[in-house]
Amino acid sequence: MTVWKGSPWIFQLERDRPATVLEDNESADTIVIGGGIAGLATAFYVLRDTDREVVLLEADLVAHGATGHNAGQAVAAMERRFDDIAGELGEEKVAQGYREIQSGWERLEEVLESTGRHGDLLRVRGVAATDSPETAHSLIKEMERWKAVGAARTEVAVVKEMTGPVEGAMEVDADRLADLLGTIDRRYVAALCAPSGVLNATLLTEAMAEHLLSTYPDRFRIYEKSRVRRLRLGDEVAASTERGTVIADNVVLCTNGYLGMGIEACQVPV
Ligand SMILES: Cc1cc2nc3c(=O)[nH]c(=O)nc-3n(C[C@H](O)[C@H](O)[C@H](O)COP(=O)(O)OP(=O)(O)OC[C@H]3O[C@@H](n4cnc5c(N)ncnc54)[C@H](O)[C@@H]3O)c2cc1C
Repeated sequence: MTVWKGSPWIFQLERDRPATVLEDNESADTIVIGGGIAGLATAFYVLRDTDREVVLLEADLVAHGATGHNAGQAVAAMERRFDDIAGELGEEKVAQGYREIQSGWERLEEVLESTGRHGDLLRVRGVAATDSPETAHSLIKEMERWKAVGAARTEVAVVKEMTGPVEGAMEVDADRLADLLGTIDRRYVAALCAPSGVLNATLLTEAMAEHLLSTYPDRFRIYEKSRVRRLRLGDEVAASTERGTVIADNVVLCTNGYLGMGIEACQVPV
């Protein structure tokens, strides 16, 4: 028996697209560096909404980074609390971020529709529970913040006898809450309910690559096994791999925070 020790998402990938390596110098309008879900989604919208020519450079293979190795949960949320991030970045920026995160559901629908990959997303109702009345109150406060900036799609259900009255929450009894959570455990006092899903991001990202290559054959190229070693930013952008350089007007770094390349003449912090 063969045992697969890698990612279950990549395991499901049936890819016959050959990897093309950048072997020469060329030009484009926009360079996208990184072929994960962020890079392909960026290329998707630049190609769809502009007439720019896009070259995507990937160090390994499309969708083999974090996109191929995650837990598969599709959620629209931040890991840190609103006020916590607002203290650092300012309220307006955070509010905009929250609204944009929520609009991610619409963007995801557009991508699923265009690639014909509706089956890659299993839609579920995400429920997270707490057995602490204090946490329940703080969850409600957080939801109020989201609502105030027009970014709430989440409801909080509370067992009123346990938490006391909580404005803005949906009141349920302990049985109903346990039902929502799919448990017989009656210790929970509140739950956060939000649209959520399970997504094979590898399949979707590879589908985006194939869709874009076939829809925009004259405006889109992907080079894999082509790590950018040096990035020069000036009036033009030059991204160099071991074997070639791409020159463009601008570049979008979708490397998931990894730089691993020398960056020269950059006027803004990277
Ligand atoms: C264990 C784990 C579990 C997770 N669970 C979840 C989850 O359940 N739900 C969720 O939403 N998120 C989850 N995440 C996070 C999620 O996987 C990432 O946020 C997402 O995949 C990032 O996509 P990306 O395109 O930005 O990055 P990646 O998929 O990492 O793509 C970046 C790409 O850039 C390429 N690259 C880097 N440097 C260069 C260079 N110099 N030249 C060319 N290419 C370069 C890399 O090879 C890589 O392919 C999880 C992550 C991990 C690791």
